[in-house]
Amino acid sequence: MDVHSRDYAARARAILRDEPHVREAVIGATVAFDQHRERAYGEVDSDAWRAWASDVKSHALTNLADYLEEAESRLTENGVVVHWAETAADVHSVLEAVAADHGVRKVVKGKSMLSEELGVNDALERQGIEVVETDLGEYVIQLFGEPPSHIVGPAIHRSLEDIQELFHRVHGTPPHATPEDLAAAARVALREAFLTADMGITGGNFLVAETGTLALIENEGNIRLATSAPKVHVALVGIEKVIARWSDLAGMLQLTSRAATGQAVGTFVSMIHGPRRDGEPDGPEAVHVILVDNGRTGMLADEATWEALKCVRCGACLNVCPVYRQTGGHAYGWVYSGPIGAVLAPALLGLDEGGALPFASTLCGACTEVCPVRIPLHDMLLTWRRRTVEAGKAPATEGLLLSAYAAAAKRPALFRLGAAGLQLLPMAVTRRLPFLKSWLAVHGDLPWSKPSFLRRWKAGPK
Ligand code: SF4
Repeated sequence: MDVHSRDYAARARAILRDEPHVREAVIGATVAFDQHRERAYGEVDSDAWRAWASDVKSHALTNLADYLEEAESRLTENGVVVHWAETAADVHSVLEAVAADHGVRKVVKGKSMLSEELGVNDALERQGIEVVETDLGEYVIQLFGEPPSHIVGPAIHRSLEDIQELFHRVHGTPPHATPEDLAAAARVALREAFLTADMGITGGNFLVAETGTLALIENEGNIRLATSAPKVHVALVGIEKVIARWSDLAGMLQLTSRAATGQAVGTFVSMIHGPRRDGEPDGPEAVHVILVDNGRTGMLADEATWEALKCVRCGACLNVCPVYRQTGGHAYGWVYSGPIGAVLAPALLGLDEGGALPFASTLCGACTEVCPVRIPLHDMLLTWRRRTVEAGKAPATEGLLLSAYAAAAKRPALFRLGAAGLQLLPMAVTRRLPFLKSWLAVHGDLPWSKPSFLRRWKAGPK
């Protein structure tokens, strides 16, 4: 995917103008996700649980080198081949070598945001390897040729009609096939892929240092098949996914599920300890784990933003974000969207590419409120905004206008004079003012409030 976060505003405008159905579809899906989360949080002492989960992740991250080495030792003892990859190019090299060793021609993939971040599909396809996404949402967007729009629901921006038309074209299903018929058509195609693939690629939700356990949560059973049917399984695991103890895993899995989909736990949880052992009837002959940095060590060293590495990719912050809800993820121009995407982008891509995204927020703090690992997302958004301004990468007109506003807001007489002056302007002129034109373009020519807000404020509640 083309990564140009500087174009966020242009992309958001284009989606709102040209694809109004996206807003409707995204609002419908995110509201439903959030209602499920809210109910699931309400069933437990979610504040205490989230504080605990935040501590589990903090502990692992503040001792990361030790726990990664412990995880490597346990994985190796379990028969897993461990690779360390500093960059996306390193990951591609490992995949190329493993694929060559095993004569891989076809790969089935479980949903992995990290694989999207690393451009894994393109890298494999450049080697002539066929890649089939097996999560239903990922399968749909692969057929559309699109990147994911949401961490948990990659195709939430697509309507039923879109998918009916797609499957009619690709699979020959009836033009108005039911969702069940569409799922059945995908199942037929994906079964064939599972049975003929040489390699399965997945991410990993958690990696337990104490036992070398790779844990994966899902709802469709495709990850279980991708990790057991092909002769090789490769897991791409960000170094931040390690947790210290086996006894912490159950709580982390359950809380992640509650935050993501409102389930007490995902329908399938796979705990992978290594390749097929002697006498076992199934499972892969070889399991490889690639521990990926790709900028994470730099983030960890940054006092203001390291906590973003606690993220368990539940998508809850996207679901409540009033900005994300308007456009879905494609406006962000990168694999991670919404508040967590806006925090990760400048950290992992740099200010030139990611500096615009922290401004795609109302700073309402809803993201911080719902995060299962209590990442202070809105504080981090402010930090990145400040850094973008200090680096001279924010639009100069915005800085001037905000300085003028701040000066007036601190001087009531000046503020009143400015407000009175504005009201005298003809609407045709007001509509062209840089700080009002975008707002008025959406909301129309609203009349000035009479009496003014300040007068009403002074008068108090009636
Ligand atoms: S930042 Fe928090 S709420 Fe957002 S995806 Fe990550 S864990 Fe979930």
